[in-house]
Amino acid sequence: MTDAVIPLLDLRQAGRIPAIPSPLSAAPAGHSPLDARGRPLRDLRISVTDRCNFRCSYCMPKEVFDKHYQFLPHRELLSFEEITRLAGVFAGLGVQKLRITGGEPLLRRNIEALIGQLAALRTPQGQPLDLTLTTNGSLLARKAQALKDAGLQRVTVSLDALDDAIFRRMNDVDFPVADVLHGIDTALAVGLAPVKVNMVVKRGTNDDQILPMARHFRGTGVTLRFIEYMDVGMSNGWRMDEVLPSSEVLARLRSEVDLVPLAPTAEGETATRWGYADGSGEIGLISSVTQAFCGDCNRARLSTEGQLYTCLFASQGHDLRALLRGQGELPARSDAEISAALGALWGRRSDRYSELRASLPPSESGGARRVEMHYIGG
Ligand code: SAM
Ligand code: SF4
Ligand code: SF4
Repeated sequence: MTDAVIPLLDLRQAGRIPAIPSPLSAAPAGHSPLDARGRPLRDLRISVTDRCNFRCSYCMPKEVFDKHYQFLPHRELLSFEEITRLAGVFAGLGVQKLRITGGEPLLRRNIEALIGQLAALRTPQGQPLDLTLTTNGSLLARKAQALKDAGLQRVTVSLDALDDAIFRRMNDVDFPVADVLHGIDTALAVGLAPVKVNMVVKRGTNDDQILPMARHFRGTGVTLRFIEYMDVGMSNGWRMDEVLPSSEVLARLRSEVDLVPLAPTAEGETATRWGYADGSGEIGLISSVTQAFCGDCNRARLSTEGQLYTCLFASQGHDLRALLRGQGELPARSDAEISAALGALWGRRSDRYSELRASLPPSESGGARRVEMHYIGG
C-alpha cells in the first residue's frame, strides 16, 4: 500500500459522525427543511460503487488506486433496498432529483434493478423523481436498453477528448474513444435523452479538445458541458495553473461560433447555459473553481457505504447506514426517525467551500482532508 492511500482510509473510517440528533422526534410528512443558509434539499447523488474501470488522473490516479488499494467489501455497501428506502425518505424531505453515480455505476451488478426501484418512488405530491445516471460510457452500449426499460430517464456521459490518443491517456487504461461514442449513440437511440456529455478541462492536457468536442456534438441533441478541473479529494495533485477558467473556454468557443446566454432551467443549476445563435443546440459551463455556486446549492451526496455528505468538499460524513441497520446498542430506526435525523442535519448545514476557497490561504485550502470523488460521486 502506498503512503498516499493512508489518509483516505483514515478519512473513510474516522470521518463518520452519528446522524442521530437529540432529542429525536418524527418530522411532519412532506416537511421540506432549509439549511442554515436558507437552501432547500432538492438533489441527492447516490454513489453505488467506489470501483471504476478507468483511472482518470484527476479522480483515481493509478499511483494511488493501484492493485493494492482496498476498495470497500460488498457487505459494507448499501443494498439496493437500503438505497431505495433512504431515497424515499429524502423524497419526503423535498428531494426531486436522484443522480446515480460512483465510481463507475454500471459496474454495480444488476444496477437496472436499483433503477427500477427508484423509478417507482414518488414525491409527497405524487410526482416521479427526476432520475438520472452519470457514467464513463464504457458499458453504456451494452446497458442502455435495460436502463431505459427499468425507468431511467436520461444519462450524463463523461468524455474528456475526441482525439483517441488523448482520451486513452486521460482514462489511463487505454480505453478507446470510439466505444464511448458508440455508448452515447446507443443512449440516444433508446431514448435516454437529453444526453449530456461532461468534459473536465485540464490546461495543457486536453484544452485543445474544446473546439473539436463542440464541433462534434453541435446539432446532435447532446448538450456538452465543460467542467473546471476541481480540487476534490486528496489524491489528484491539483494545481490552480491546470485549471482553465470557464471564461477562457467561452472565449475560445466564441472565436468560432455565435453563442447567446440562456436562462437557467432549474433552481440550484450547476451549469451556466449558452445556446448556438442558429438554434443548433446548447453548451454548459460548470465553473466550480472560478465562480462558486454555493449560494443556492441544494445537493447532498450519499456514499457507497451510506455516509451522507452535505458538500462535495466535506471531510466528515454522517452515518446513515448505522440508522438503517442499527449499530452496537443502538437499534435500527424507523423512516420517521431517519427523516427527523436528516431534517435536523440539513438544518445545521452551512457548507460553502467553493465560495470560501478563493479567500483561504493556500495552506488551508489545500490542507483540509477531503473525501474522494469516486467514493461520494460527482
Ligand atoms: N465514473 C462516472 C463518470 O466518470 O462519469 C461517474 C463518477 S465521476 C466521479 C463523476 C464526474 O466527476 C465525472 O463527470 C468526472 O469527470 C467528474 N470529476 C471527477 N474528478 C473531477 C475533478 N477533479 N474535477 C472536476 N470533475 C471531476
Ligand atoms: Fe472513474 Fe469517473 Fe473517476 Fe474517471 S471520473 S476515474 S471514470 S469514477
Ligand atoms: Fe455545494 Fe459544497 Fe460545491 Fe458549494 S462547494 S456548490 S456547498 S457542494
